[in-house]
Amino acid sequence: MTDGFEDLLAANRAYAESFDLAGFDGIAHAGVAVVTCMDSRIDPLRMLGLAPGDAKIFRNPGGRVTEAALEALVLGVHLLNVRRVLVVPHTRCAMASATLDELRARVGESAEQDASWQSFAVVEDQDAALADDVRKVRSHPLIPATVQVGGFVYDVDTGLLDQHC
Ligand SMILES: [Zn+2]
Repeated sequence: MTDGFEDLLAANRAYAESFDLAGFDGIAHAGVAVVTCMDSRIDPLRMLGLAPGDAKIFRNPGGRVTEAALEALVLGVHLLNVRRVLVVPHTRCAMASATLDELRARVGESAEQDASWQSFAVVEDQDAALADDVRKVRSHPLIPATVQVGGFVYDVDTGLLDQHC
């Protein structure tokens, strides 16, 4: 085991003292699933007026609909009450504003070694990628047409969502 987590574990003990989420099931009570970016400026529950227990959240760099995201959505739709899916990339996303070569160079500089072998799912055209991602969800054979799927861009400067597709 490594040191270096004490502050977080202390915070966790304080959290557990007033823990009120015990006995929750794993269902998405608001019937919502969100695929969004790992960006720390995004608070996926609060931005939708939701609370713990309400939604399934799947995050990755860029908020892309990957195979793993589709796996989560299929489980969400069939076993966890998901009826609406929001795909939510955001403004000023590093994955959509840098090229693959730029990201590899920046990581390589930080790592002080070659990073040219590392894959990064960079986005050249965020709107086109979003439309493609929404299409992937809508056309998935295990996601029924009754599930509503929308593509939105979250503005990290205003907190607003803008529906694109
Ligand atoms: Zn991002």
